[in-house]
Order: sequence, then C-alpha cells, then structure tokens
Amino acid sequence: MLGVETSQLRRHVRAGAALTAPLLDRFVERAQRLDDRGPVGLPSASFALVEPFAGGAVPAFAVAAATCGQLVLDPARAALDARHQVFGGRIDQPDLERPAAPYALRPVTLEDARHPIAAAELTLGVATAGHSHQNGAVAGRFAPSPTGDLHLGNLRTALVAWLAARSSGRQFLVRMEDLDRVTSSIDHERRQLADLAALGLDWDGEVVRQSDRFDRYRAEIDRLRAAGCVYECFCTRREIRAEIESAASAPHAHLPDGAYPGTCRDLSADERQERRDAGRSPALRLRTDGESIAVHDVMAGEFVGAVDDVVLARADGVPAYNLAVVVDDIAQGVTQVIRGDDLLSSTPRQVLLYRLLGADPPEYLHVPLVLGADGRRLAKRHGAVTLADLAAEGWSPEDVLGALARSLGLAAPGETVGVGVLLDRWDPACVPSTPTPLAALTG
Ligand code: GLU
Repeated sequence: MLGVETSQLRRHVRAGAALTAPLLDRFVERAQRLDDRGPVGLPSASFALVEPFAGGAVPAFAVAAATCGQLVLDPARAALDARHQVFGGRIDQPDLERPAAPYALRPVTLEDARHPIAAAELTLGVATAGHSHQNGAVAGRFAPSPTGDLHLGNLRTALVAWLAARSSGRQFLVRMEDLDRVTSSIDHERRQLADLAALGLDWDGEVVRQSDRFDRYRAEIDRLRAAGCVYECFCTRREIRAEIESAASAPHAHLPDGAYPGTCRDLSADERQERRDAGRSPALRLRTDGESIAVHDVMAGEFVGAVDDVVLARADGVPAYNLAVVVDDIAQGVTQVIRGDDLLSSTPRQVLLYRLLGADPPEYLHVPLVLGADGRRLAKRHGAVTLADLAAEGWSPEDVLGALARSLGLAAPGETVGVGVLLDRWDPACVPSTPTPLAALTG
C-alpha cells in the first residue's frame, strides 16, 4: 500500500489535471455504489473508482485526492483497458462534504498503472501562468466597459472596490473590458479614468485592456478545448430563441433564463462540416451539465445558481466576457471582486471556469445597483447621472464623493470628506443591502 498525502496531490491537481464538477460528482456517487457491493475484492471500507471518459483516461485517485482527506492507493489493483480506468484504492478519512478543491482538466492516459505517482504526474504540466494565489500577490479591481461615461452607480461601486482593496492591503487594479470593439472607445476610457482620478481613486500599475489580450483568452479556450470541454455552436440568436420557445416545457427548467438549449452539443463531424460548408462560423461553448454552483458573496451570502453552456468565444472569434473576466482576474492576481449585483447571476458560471482553469475563485461582493426613478438600472435617460452632468449643475467632484459616501453611511449630510477619511471609516457592512434610488444620492 502506498500512502499519498492529499496536499501533495492536490497541488498537482490544481496545476492542471483532472475533471469537471459533474463528472466528479458522478465519481463519488459511483464510488459509493461500488463500495456497497464490495467491488473487486477490496476491503469494504475502500472505494473503487471507475469512470469511462471519452477521449482520454482520468486518474481517479487524483480526483479522489481533490475531495478527500487522504487517499491510499494500491497500485497492484490498478487496471486499465481501452475504455475504462479502474483503480482500487482506499480513501482514509473520507470527507466528501468538503467542497471540492479547484481542479483543472486535462484527460490523460496512464502509461503505467503500476506507478500511480508517476501517473499522477502525467496530469501535470499545463500549469496556468500567473497564479497569483500561489505567489502571494493579491488585488482588488474595478473593471468597467469603456462604452460611455461612468454613472453614479458605477462610481459608487468603484469607490467600494477601492475602499475594500486599500483597507485590506490589496493592490487596486483598473481593467478596461473593451472586448466589444464597436461600443468601446479610447475616449470613453480616458474619461472614465479621469473621473476615477477626480474622486481620488488611484490605481496600481498600468491599466490593462482586454483588447490587448485576445491571444491569452484564445490560449485558455484551447486548453479547455483540449480537455474536451468546448464544443462548436452554429446557432444564431434567433434559432436559439425559437428553440427555447418551442421547448418551453420543463426539461431545462432549472437553468438560468435564456440558457442555451444544447442544440449543437452533440453534432457529428459531418454535421459540423455541413454547417461550415453553408458558410456558418461557430461560436465556442463550454460543455456543462447544468450543474448548480454555490457562490459565497459578502453581501448576498450563499448564492446558488445553475450553469449553462456559456459562450467562450463568439462566432466572429471575439472572446466572451465570462471567459475573459476569469482569465484576467486569475492572471492579475485578483482575490477580491467587487461589482454591480447585476452580475451575481453570472457568477456561478465564472466560478465553474475558475475550477476548470485550476484556480481559486476570489472573494465576491456584489453591490446593489443605483436605480432611476422608474426603478430601472441607472442610465443616461435618468438625467444628471455622470460626473460631467453633475458638474454642469454645479457639483464638484468632492460633492459627488460626499453624496456617494453618504449613501454608504460613511459621511454625514453636508460633510466634505476625502477618500483617506473614508478609508479610516470603511466597513463592508456599510454597503446597502438593497438598491439605492438615484434621488437618495442627488436629492
Ligand atoms: N465590465 C463589466 C461591466 O462594466 C464588469 C465586469 C466585472 O466587474 O466583472 O459591467
């Protein structure tokens, strides 16, 4: 018997091995079922892990190691055939309640089942570059899309993100999410940065632009693709809508609104070629099982949401937001994500991507939005909502900062405060738990 410290394997798993969450769940279920039957002559306290895995084999012990306290392998019992991997093993101190450690995926074929440690090491080697958590760098960030001026809701979120980062010794980064080259502009970017600076919100290092990082996103998509987690989708938006409407009966009822119904999930090579021949280019989607993912949010507490086969790259080749945001936050060492709570419902998808890319999700704090008088999220039509609009009405940046601080309970009416004072007063509990009407800020 060969004892393997989980922590050791877990590092390996993180560095670029193993599996998706649903597969993991199936493993555990299957292992328990097999255990009941006392499989392959193992002692009854043991688990045998058996899983067919299309396109490659997966070292079951690596998966078990990601979920359990300690795993003891019996290399002599390891057997391998073309379709299945069968490992006999014994899991000491099983602790299946514990959330799975993050794991990335890469099917591997075991060359030599008699040497499971060497086999485990075969699952290494696709280390994700720039894993901040491992090198200690930690940061918070503000990541606007430069598609217009920041409004009071954006500015308040930026203030909260700045306060939370600076008060916790994190760096504060600004990233321009300008994936959409049509709606984004350098002019908007400059104005947004000038507005942050006018409020006294400074940032560390260069502002990163997503438009400079397409190669990186594509490389990460390729990694997921090599692991069999990506498929080509030729559907147009209209087709997806029609499909969702016609299948309105329940099968996808647990999925988020508008979730992709999976039309292209299982196209054959010929069917894909037919669509290409007809002049269609595919978007790339993540292959999920509609699993539920729990997210811990400082404001919302535990939020559980189902994931769908989210788009990773659009048909025109532009990487998609959910992929880019996760790739960047990992690469930039972001350990604290503060943003508007309209993105809370997308967070389970992002957490799944963290797992698949082998990284720990950050701390999340989703800030309730500022709403216009009509109860809708703030927009230009609601009147004076940007620093420039308010300046035209005689507001100084200090006045605006004061109004934002008041809405967080960090300043008294009429009090002029700088960001330094706010930093001394900062407490995450000051973030309102419900949306703030615009009138409460400007009234
Ligand atoms: N770029 C997104 C927005 O402006 C924010 C993304 C994020 O903070 O994760 O809404």
